[in-house]
This record gives sequence, C-alpha cells and structure tokens, in this order.
Amino acid sequence: MNMIQQSIDPEEDTVDFQSFSHGLYIGGKWVRARGDRRIEVVDPATEAVIAAVPDATVEDAADAVAAAASAAEGWRDTPPRKRSEILRRCYELMIERAETLATLISLENGKALRDARGEVAYAAEFFRWNAEEAVRISGEFGIAPAGTNRIVVDYQPIGICVLITPWNFPAAMATRKIAPALAAGCTVILKPASETPLTAYALAALYEEAGVPPGVVNVLTTTNPGAVTASMLADPRVRKLSFTGSTGVGRTLLAEAAKHVISCSMELGGNAPFIVFDDADLEAALDGVMIAKMRNAGEACTAANRIYVQSGIHDAFAEGLTRRMTALKVGQGINPETECGPMITRKAVSKIDALVQEAIFRGAEVRCGGMVTEGRGFYYPPTVLVNVPADARMAHEEIFGPVAPIYAFETEAEAITGANDTEYGLAAYIYTKDISRGMRVASRVESGMIGLNRGLVSDPAAPFGGVKQSGLGREGGQHHGIAEFMEAKYIATSF
Ligand code: NAD
Repeated sequence: MNMIQQSIDPEEDTVDFQSFSHGLYIGGKWVRARGDRRIEVVDPATEAVIAAVPDATVEDAADAVAAAASAAEGWRDTPPRKRSEILRRCYELMIERAETLATLISLENGKALRDARGEVAYAAEFFRWNAEEAVRISGEFGIAPAGTNRIVVDYQPIGICVLITPWNFPAAMATRKIAPALAAGCTVILKPASETPLTAYALAALYEEAGVPPGVVNVLTTTNPGAVTASMLADPRVRKLSFTGSTGVGRTLLAEAAKHVISCSMELGGNAPFIVFDDADLEAALDGVMIAKMRNAGEACTAANRIYVQSGIHDAFAEGLTRRMTALKVGQGINPETECGPMITRKAVSKIDALVQEAIFRGAEVRCGGMVTEGRGFYYPPTVLVNVPADARMAHEEIFGPVAPIYAFETEAEAITGANDTEYGLAAYIYTKDISRGMRVASRVESGMIGLNRGLVSDPAAPFGGVKQSGLGREGGQHHGIAEFMEAKYIATSF
C-alpha cells in the first residue's frame, strides 16, 4: 500500500495530509521530481497550507511519456472485456471511498461537501458508463459504390494522450477523460491543476488498486505547464491532447498542438444564458437557476452567467432569487451545513469583485451581496444584481462566482439575440411552459447544451461540449466521448 492510500482511510474517513508530500505517479511508481521545488496546496476556507506535492520538470514529463509508451501495446491488446472490468472496479472503488474523496475535494477546492459528494458520484459514473461502452466499440463494413471492393473501417486507439484538467472539478474533469481514453485502449498522462492536485493523486492510487496496469495512467503536477506540455506534445509518440480549462489557455494549446498536428479535444469556458419567459413556472425556474448558478458556488463552466428574464415575471423572479441567495449558508466547504463555500484563490475573489463593481458603476442595482467578505478565507457573498447593462464586462466574461446578474427583456427575438451575443457557446437554459417555444428557442440559441426547464445538463450518458469558442469535441455520450480517443482506419479489400 502506498502512502496516498494510507492517507485516505476509508474506514476512518480521515485525510492525513502529511503523507501527501511525495511522488509523481509515473509507470505505476511514486517517484521524486527531478527538481527540489514543491507545490503548496492551500485550503481556500482557511488559507492554511495543507500539503505539498512535487513540481515536475520537462525531464519528468519525458519519463511519463516513456512510461505511457511502454504500457501502450499491452493495454491496446488487453481484451475489451478485461479493460471494461478494470474500469468497473474503478467505479466501485470510487463509490466505496466516496465520502473520503468528497472530503478531500472539499478541502483542496473549497466547495461545499454536498457539491463534492455530487462531483464524486458524477466522476465515478464516467467509469461505470465507459466500462459499459468499452465492449461496444465496433467498426463498419460496406461495399464500395463501384462494386470493386469492400470497405472495412476499424476504430483503433489514437495513441498516447496528454490530459490537462482545471481545479473546479478535480475528480470529474479527470475521470471524464481517463475513463473513455482507457476504454478506447489508450495510455495517458494527466496534468491536473496545481491548485487541486491531491484528488488526482488519490485517484491514481485507486486506479492502481482497481488493476490499471503500471504506465497506463501517469499523473504529474507542475508549476511550469507551458514548457512541460510543449515538451510532451513535441514527442512524436503523443497523438492526443484533451484539455479542459479556460478559452485563453485552450487557444495557446491549440497553437502548440498545431506544430505537431496533434488531435485536440477542447472543453473551454462558458457564458451561459438562463432565459426565463413570462409563462415559466416561477418556482421551477427559481429552483433551476439556483442549481445552474450556485452549483460549486458558481465556479462551473456551465454556470448561468447572464439571467435574462421577461418583463412580466421579472420583479417576482428577482425577488424570489434574492430571497434564496440571501438564505444560503456560506462557510467552510467541509461543514455539512454549508451551501456556498469559498472561491479557489484570493485572485479569483478580486476578479469577481472587479466585475461586480464595474457593473454597479455602470448602473446595476445590488439586491444582495456585492461586497468582498472580510476575514480569513477566499469568500465572496451570494450576490444578485438587477438592471445590469448589456455591455457590462460581466455580460461578456465568465464571472465564475456566486453572482447572479439579471437582464430584463421583452420579446423572444430579443432574448435569442442577447443569448447569442457572446464568443462562447457551452450551455444555455430556457424556462417556459410552452414546449414548442422552448424547442424553437433551443434550436436558435448557439450552444452545445441546452437545459429546457432544467438547471442541470451534465450527464455521462450525454455528449458534453461547446460550440463557438467554448470548445472542440465532446465528452461522454454514447459514442462521442470514446470516439475522441480513437482513429478510423479504412481498409479497402476485395474478395
Ligand atoms: P486554466 O485554463 O487556467 O487552467 C486549466 C489547466 O490548464 C490547469 O491544469 C492549468 O495548470 C493548465 N495550464 C495553464 N496554462 C497552461 C499552459 N500554458 N500550457 C498547458 N497547460 C496550462 O483554467 P482554470 O482556471 O483551471 O479553470 C477554469 C476554466 O475552465 C474556466 O474557464 C471554465 O469555464 C473552464 N472549464 C471548462 C469546462 C468544460 O467542460 N467546458 C469544465 C470545467 C472548467
């Protein structure tokens, strides 16, 4: 048993951070980084340093690629049924350890334990879903139109994959990539965000216990992601980059990958509109907006970023939302009563506040919150703003915090134009009792995912992803997620 397994004790349900102070996970071993530097992990609720993890160098990254390469053939040739059973075991172990993993996520990320529990369930589900899909990967067979030959299409693992994930869902963003990659027969190197590395390392130990062979999953943390990633992408054995994070970093990585013509999947930023028509069920719309806005305290790519409310229901909606936001219990994530935890960093709080103050300066009216909370921890209070001008910065940038700006509108056309007035297109939400209007608006809103009378869209069984500058490709879904990690090979043959 390695130190990370010891540090997360499922029986005791305790987390001993002292034992996190070691290795990168490369080739099935916990190894020292080449350099001496370490990355401190800070609890956003207390600002205390709770652990330190290694800071990988370019040389360490080369070791990880070599480990993934030496495991590639064995894993590719492992029967799908066997791969499926290992993935299923990963799911089972995650469910067995759910409470401990949720505590760990909550401590390093700050999110409310209830959100962390939801994340673990969602993250584990990617293993169950892909265990089921791993044995259903099939090819195609046909006859050429000229009748001269047969067309056989075989789907093969794309090769070694570099996976890069953000801090806001430390478990789910990793399993959403690792599970389909492994189901497809690929080996991977995961670089989690340096703010939340502990969950990634804890999960690496769990994969090993589930039977994932050495080198199939490698995990490294670094404060030098640009150089480390560039070095891995320059290795001709690496054939895939799957990234989840901001649109800005996504653009940089697309340019880097272009140098070597590497296949890219990009899950990028969002600016989700949440549209409420006059005929919506008010209570249902309020329930929905609380989920769409406040899951993860607003630190979600799918978070409602612009709330468009038709004039007839505007005042009642703003009042109801203010009541609910004011009633939220703000506090340390690991307190089971907490509904809204701290933000990830002090910098994130400053960014949110700058957006709020700019909107207020431009004429927005504060219904609740709107000022940085003094004291320890990176807190921002649940905030509702009305009369937000359409050209406020927060209408065009991700707020990524517990701030709900409301924009009034009159007509359906106005709502659609407003919703589409962004470079992003990840998620959108529509509330109306008129289902034909709902479907009509859904078809016109430029977004990869729509919640129609629902505030939550994420589901491993559905294709997750964005249009416009919110990304390229899809994760999850019946074939979409695995297809990102496969390459079609066409064989022309006559017989
Ligand atoms: P980020 O882009 O700053 O970082 C994401 C990851 O990229 C981290 O691991 C980071 O260390 C790494 N990184 C940063 N610079 C890099 C570089 N030059 N080369 C290689 N890697 C680099 O994003 P974040 O702040 O961690 O996460 C928040 C963002 O992620 C938001 O924009 C959010 O919308 C987005 N997000 C999108 C989805 C989605 O599915 N579309 C899901 C979650 C988060």
